[in-house]
Amino acid sequence: MTALLHRYAASKETLATVLQGLPRYRIDQVWKSLYSDCGPTETWTTLPSELRTELDTSLPCSLQEIHASTTDDGLTTKFLYEVDGGARIESVLMLYPDRATVCISSQAGCAMGCTFCATGQQGFSRHLSSAELVEQVARAKYAAALQERRLSNVVVMGMGEPLANEEALWPAMQTVHDEFGLSARHITVSTVGLIPGIRRLADRPLPVTLAVSLHAATDELRNTLIPMNRRYPIDELITSCAEYVAQRKRRMSFEWAMIDGVNDDLDQAERLAELCRKIRPIAHVNLIPLNRTAGYAFKGSTRQQIEKFQSVLLRRGVEATVRRNRGNDIDAACGQLAAITPVEISPQSAKK
Ligand code: SAH
Ligand code: SF4
Repeated sequence: MTALLHRYAASKETLATVLQGLPRYRIDQVWKSLYSDCGPTETWTTLPSELRTELDTSLPCSLQEIHASTTDDGLTTKFLYEVDGGARIESVLMLYPDRATVCISSQAGCAMGCTFCATGQQGFSRHLSSAELVEQVARAKYAAALQERRLSNVVVMGMGEPLANEEALWPAMQTVHDEFGLSARHITVSTVGLIPGIRRLADRPLPVTLAVSLHAATDELRNTLIPMNRRYPIDELITSCAEYVAQRKRRMSFEWAMIDGVNDDLDQAERLAELCRKIRPIAHVNLIPLNRTAGYAFKGSTRQQIEKFQSVLLRRGVEATVRRNRGNDIDAACGQLAAITPVEISPQSAKK
């Protein structure tokens, strides 16, 4: 065993090269440990312990767990990892009655600069590698298994903009599909609306579920929330979504963070309904009460306003759900992922 390779960077053939000298059945055991069991090396008990120690060096992890915090009675866990070079990223595992979903990061930080988002406020550190994406899923799969749950969904909705890192994203999603056995329908990629990436989606082998973070139905307003809107304005964005949906016959959704007095008036709801109806089947809307972040002064909308906004959509035939806020108290909710240690966030969450 010679070369150093992150354990989730290897194809089975490369693994055989790295582990040359080992019999084929050992390679199969390592592979099964990586993709079926997904635990740390000490749990790979089909292998002799000297070999496990050797593998720790020859097939190192790409993520170092710094902290894991749990809330919602154990149903939500936020993992804080350090990656090579020292940047920090986060994943969140959410257990629901009917599914277990992990929300993974695609970049350390984000260059898109959306004003209301903790990751955007932090700026960009670096792209994550495919191995770093896959390992986030593997670790969540293991954590779910410890609670006797099977990981069923992956959403790329953590830190970063996945369609700005397609080189790592697509090989990773292919591995998630092929090796962890998740169907494309159960893989969701959320984008701020990078049109060239959305256009390329139609030709990708995996028809994943598309989620677009819209948050505003007029360019004037969207420009103030999402700087990228100046480059990829709403009309063109909706056209690219409609094309993807028509080609792949997949439903898509729009994310809408409800911000008090900013994007929660009923005129925006009417316009949003119109945009959704340009897509067939009609796009679904996820309304997310805005989570507070340090660098943005506005509050989340009131419950009453969210309900009014939702009923406009429903009346216009647009399915709209209000997303439950998971992990708010450990800063694991949408847009709160900024990868600072819990102690720095609040002493209270560190005690959990
Ligand atoms: N960059 C991608 C995916 C990561 S952001 C994207 O923008 O889609 C994941 C989701 O959280 C997006 O829908 C984003 O708009 C939303 N979000 C960001 N900040 C938020 C906040 N403070 N409150 C609620 N949702 C937020
Ligand atoms: Fe980046 Fe998404 Fe946050 Fe915008 S909302 S800054 S694209 S992570």
